[in-house]
Amino acid sequence: MSIVLKSYAAGQWVEASSGFSDIPSAIDGRVVARASSAGLDFGAMVTYARTVGGPALRALTFHERADRLKALALYLTERKEPLYALAADTGATKGDNLIDIDGGLGTLFAYASRGRRELPNEHVVVEGPPEGLSKGGTFVGAHVMTPLEGVAIHINAFNFPCWGMLEKLAPAFLAGVPVITKPATATAYVAEAVVRLIVESGLLPAGALQLICGSTGDLLDHLTGQDIVSFTGSIETSEKLRNHPSISRQAVRFIAERDSLNAAVLGPDAVEGTPEFDLFVKEVVREMTVKAGQKCTAIRRVFVPRALEPAVTAALSTRLAGATMGDPRTEGVRMGPLASRAQRASVLEKVAEIAQEAEIVYGAPTAADEALDPSLAGGAFLAPVLLRCTAPLTGRHVHTTEAFGPVATVMPYDSLDEAVTLVAKGEGSLVASIFTYDDAVADRLFFGLAPYHGRVLLVDRDCAKESTGHGSPLPMLVHGGPGRAGGGEELGGIRGVFHYMQRTAIQGSPKRLTALTRRWTKGAPAPADGPHPFTRDFDTLVIGETVRTPSRVITLDDIEHFAHFTGDLFYAHMNEEAAKANPFFPGRVAHGYLILSFAAGLFVQPDPGPVLANYGLDNLRFLKPVSPGDAIAVRLTVKQKQAARKPEYGEVRWDVEVTNQHGEVVATYDLLTMNARPVAAVS
Ligand code: NAP
Repeated sequence: MSIVLKSYAAGQWVEASSGFSDIPSAIDGRVVARASSAGLDFGAMVTYARTVGGPALRALTFHERADRLKALALYLTERKEPLYALAADTGATKGDNLIDIDGGLGTLFAYASRGRRELPNEHVVVEGPPEGLSKGGTFVGAHVMTPLEGVAIHINAFNFPCWGMLEKLAPAFLAGVPVITKPATATAYVAEAVVRLIVESGLLPAGALQLICGSTGDLLDHLTGQDIVSFTGSIETSEKLRNHPSISRQAVRFIAERDSLNAAVLGPDAVEGTPEFDLFVKEVVREMTVKAGQKCTAIRRVFVPRALEPAVTAALSTRLAGATMGDPRTEGVRMGPLASRAQRASVLEKVAEIAQEAEIVYGAPTAADEALDPSLAGGAFLAPVLLRCTAPLTGRHVHTTEAFGPVATVMPYDSLDEAVTLVAKGEGSLVASIFTYDDAVADRLFFGLAPYHGRVLLVDRDCAKESTGHGSPLPMLVHGGPGRAGGGEELGGIRGVFHYMQRTAIQGSPKRLTALTRRWTKGAPAPADGPHPFTRDFDTLVIGETVRTPSRVITLDDIEHFAHFTGDLFYAHMNEEAAKANPFFPGRVAHGYLILSFAAGLFVQPDPGPVLANYGLDNLRFLKPVSPGDAIAVRLTVKQKQAARKPEYGEVRWDVEVTNQHGEVVATYDLLTMNARPVAAVS
């Protein structure tokens, strides 16, 4: 019995009554699901996202959203087993599911934890320190990132229905932007099952996530400049969508992840018998067979020194022969079928195109090769195909025709420069791998390939054991690539979150900047007439409150004492002549750490109170030497407050400036403390 897929629109599960496409199992062709989006009101979905989802998400801070992502990851982890069984019909083996399902959940966990660590517990991000824009310091500027007020449309490829959806959902959600997700129809039943669990969890606010099973109808007609489209799929569809009148006219942000003819390059040093040679062979075969080669990052082009080509081809062929293809539900099967018969036909077509410039050295692809094993008839099985192109400099298809299946082409190169030229013929890719243990080879290849790639992996005996491999994008590193691969937008990491936000320059007075950014800016009022801020708990502490200390003279005895007490006898503090010879010092000077210690001695209020701990310093700079006889004083100002992971505490960032008797700044830094919150505010 097949499943009738529903869309999730405006908080309701909606079933179409017409226009269904049958979705066949990759294993045996039986219809496993049917999908249609006929009758969906796409305009209403967009409005619902903008008016219900967006405001609900933006009411949460980054940390609150990160916490929900983590809770969601845990919720899905407890319920992932049935997803494996469902995904088998897409052709996914146990190993493939580890990438798609566990990898998708891992992405949620990673974004949750990085969101907690790298984003503030606030609604906007203030980037970096303020910039002085005038001589007198009354006009300053900064950059502020605010979430877009539209909707993120996520259009995904068929190959990773779970990971592909979640790796896009996580950064958009963290940014505070609602999502309408549209999985590829061929594997939409897995995505639909994941969305069902997400909805059941009740962890995402209403309107944060909607789902379209079937085509996107007139969805794109409703987009404006506050919206964003993130697409994964073929170059042809990407171009069609990018040129959609709403997208081009309204400059809708458009991110594309698409075709990529990724390369692996074997260094000339990695001859037979070296660990790198073996690792190379293993990795190429793994990339050809995992997910039956239907990975955006799979190795399609295999570059080897000409002298090593016969050995590489032979080793690859031997290893490919050991890759067990079959029903992905069967224990021991390493490679399942392609996602559909249509996909299989497309791969065979592309192999024929590549074969115009290359010979097939392993595999015998024919439209009827499933007949070799009658038990696989009706499925979308295709055994691996290895090609060899001996004149790759003049080839075109070998570099630009993507056969999205278990297919790769071996190509010899005659010099490292030539290897770089050949890789670049892929017109920009997601990832390249370099296998070498030679520093000079690694240097030439890395810097040659980097401009053409979003990610370059260097594999050798030292990292092989722990390396995640060529094909595994890590959630916090760039996933994306220039040119053919989509255009080089940096996805992955916190910068992936920023795609969903607008960066705006803010200019005005220090007082205005302080008020708008909730971060004290030098030049803004800094009242020092109240009780010492160390006596105030987190909630009553006001940004801008300041301590101005009396001054303290630093003597030569202080420097001597500090040097012998700490063991820091560096000549600049101990030897007048040697210190004088140093271009930075007028003679013996105080240790930087002595200045910090004396500064603390000046500003600290020693009684037990709400300041619980000093947990670090940021942005420390020693700007002027302090000589014996100089007198230092400190200004300590509450710069920023942020709720901590535990509700009993808050994090306080203090702006500290140490000056000498001439009013010159000798040191600046941010002091970080953990401050208690009143019990009533917590309960
Ligand atoms: P595709 O045919 O371009 O489809 C991709 C998505 O676009 C599907 O959800 C599809 O929906 C949708 N779509 C197609 N026509 C559309 C239209 N006119 N309007 C709106 N949506 C439309 O690509 P695919 O065959 O699924 O995926 C394989 C390709 O994806 C390969 O080329 C691979 O390299 C690429 N890929 C790239 C990455 C990457 O990160 N760079 C990752 C994975 C895959 P339907 O399924 O309903 O048609």
